[in-house]
Amino acid sequence: MKYLIIYAHPNPKSFNAAIKEQVVSYLKSKGKEVVVRDLYQLGFNPTLSGNDFAQFLQGQIPLDIKKEQELIGEADTLIIIHPIWWFNLPAILKGYIDRVFSHGFAYKFADGEIKGLLTGKNVIIINTTGGPQENYENFGYKDALKLTICNGIFAFCGMSVKSHKFFYAVPTVSNDARTKMLEEIKALDF
Ligand code: FAD
Repeated sequence: MKYLIIYAHPNPKSFNAAIKEQVVSYLKSKGKEVVVRDLYQLGFNPTLSGNDFAQFLQGQIPLDIKKEQELIGEADTLIIIHPIWWFNLPAILKGYIDRVFSHGFAYKFADGEIKGLLTGKNVIIINTTGGPQENYENFGYKDALKLTICNGIFAFCGMSVKSHKFFYAVPTVSNDARTKMLEEIKALDF
């Protein structure tokens, strides 16, 4: 079982970094194979450009995209770790999806239908928020994010979303509460 962590936070001392480290150490303690793609550390280029489209049209894949597609191809489970920014993915991760989850790799049009091509792969999403849980649940933000991220991206591409975990109000809860959040990671169904 191979795990690919796709991680998007610019601060190596952030709580998201602590989540990523906790996931890595937990999976390694279970003898699992884990690869981490730290998008900021990689300096991943998030702009889907005219040059990318020109290459796609010629049946070619830019090398940086190809590398990510190979890693996704080898993985059984993708673990996506990021903060919620403006009720969405951080731009670097949105750009990763734009460029890497390309037509012909992640999905295709066939017989008048759209077909996901990443079938057989699982996804686990771990998000942190600034806002409290009640806002997310009472005002529909959680449902909206599940719809756009789980369904609109990963299920659309044929993947099975095993869990979408939210850690709420991370900057304002107590340190003890954050420590408990990190412990909860071990209870996720990896
Ligand atoms: P950090 O700020 O890195 O850390 C939070 C706290 O955890 C700090 O006190 C830190 O010292 C502490 N910490 C770090 N490591 C550990 C550890 N190992 N154990 C215990 N504590 C630790 N929120 C929303 O809800 N909706 C939005 O639309 C939204 N938009 C945003 C847009 C932008 C551009 C930004 C910058 C923030 C936005 N936020 C929003 C808030 C954002 O979601 C939260 O600030 C973020 O999720 C918190 O995670 P973090 O990793 O950045 O936390």
